[in-house]
Amino acid sequence: MLCEMCGTDVEATTRVKVEGSILSVCASCARFGVAIDPPPAPVHVSDSSFQPMRPPGPAAAPLPLGDRLSAGRRRLEERDLYRELPEMELAPDWSKRIRAAREKLAWTPDDLAKKLNEKKSVVLKIESDGFRPSDAMVRKIEHLLKIRLRADPEAAAGAPGS
Ligand SMILES: [Zn+2]
Repeated sequence: MLCEMCGTDVEATTRVKVEGSILSVCASCARFGVAIDPPPAPVHVSDSSFQPMRPPGPAAAPLPLGDRLSAGRRRLEERDLYRELPEMELAPDWSKRIRAAREKLAWTPDDLAKKLNEKKSVVLKIESDGFRPSDAMVRKIEHLLKIRLRADPEAAAGAPGS
């Protein structure tokens, strides 16, 4: 059976609950979730004092296992896999800067769109601050229009005094 978390082929998997999803996982991945079903055994419980067969174990640690699909076939040893790269911080008036620079070059939104390999509607959305371009596109725009869209950390911190 394949572990649904790391993709390892193991003889037996354990069903655990991970952030609301039930996964069949290998023994080493089981600790990332909460065991939900003890092995099926004839139950002769006479009263309600049912005791779980296996202790839940140290499963309380919050692990960033949100994306079950991308977790498949991937080793989970590296937590850094899930660390998202922060987006570049843009100047507050980045959309205005784009429009101003484009108009200065006498480019239509269509012109800019073609150079960016995007639709004109995307350019219009960007210029109206309705769509934050990806970091890659920010670099492209900066290059094309020879402007800077990223926030200047020194200016943002305010004048420290001379
Ligand atoms: Zn596994």
